[in-house]
Amino acid sequence: MVTRFFHRFSLVLIVVLLGSQADALVAELRPSEIIPGDVFLIRVLASGTPSGEFKGGKIRFFMKGDDEYMALVPVPLDTEPGDYRITIKDGREARCLDLRVRRYEFPTERLTLPEEKVFLSPENQKRVEREYLMLQDLWDDVTERMWDGVFIQPVDTRLSEAFGIRRIINSKKTSIHRGIDYKGTMGEPVRAINSGRVVLADELFYGGKTVIIDHGTGLFSIYMHLSGFNVSKGQNVSKGHIIGFIGATGRATGPHLHLSVKLGGISVNPLSLMNLDL
Ligand SMILES: [Zn+2]
Repeated sequence: MVTRFFHRFSLVLIVVLLGSQADALVAELRPSEIIPGDVFLIRVLASGTPSGEFKGGKIRFFMKGDDEYMALVPVPLDTEPGDYRITIKDGREARCLDLRVRRYEFPTERLTLPEEKVFLSPENQKRVEREYLMLQDLWDDVTERMWDGVFIQPVDTRLSEAFGIRRIINSKKTSIHRGIDYKGTMGEPVRAINSGRVVLADELFYGGKTVIIDHGTGLFSIYMHLSGFNVSKGQNVSKGHIIGFIGATGRATGPHLHLSVKLGGISVNPLSLMNLDL
């Protein structure tokens, strides 16, 4: 009698354990070690939408599949190096994830540009301010996910300038390079790094002929200094679609592509996004 009861009890126990394991909250973070300006990925298996915070901001999760959620999280360039613990909750359980932000000394370089592109006339100053506000409005728009899978390179040529470099322009002004530059030849095709919708194809003061693609989930890619457009505003593009051609329009010293990525309004290193196994 006692044995039979014990058997029945252990069977119930196994079923309960298996049941709870199937619903258990599973969370992982990749890569676990990064530098300021990078983006990292959180993948979660949960029965309900997970929540979490990083640096005081809510992490924005989106659904990837059945019970599977994902979040791309930007680490701003001014983030203090150190160890960060991120707690992920799904209403019933919580998991802790550890992120290490390594110290990195971004190099400084000196750059000479045409004076009128550095010390602006009142008219150009107004134009730059207007364009800045217009772009800020764009980043606030969080649409449904249009990107899918890994992010690809926009051109085949090599990188000529890294992300985060501190620049001293014409010995007087300083700025931070919040994108990456690809060396290229005039007229070389530029491809969309992932699928999305063109939200801007226009000439800007600094960017010259610029294309901006909204990939959804608060993620945008920006392609500057183009010689011409191959898309127009409102057009949907798939990954690899030719959106324009390399040029030297705007504030540029020669033909090259400047690529920036904005995530939740924060500039991140496009290479760290391309390195993620999505
Ligand atoms: Zn650049």
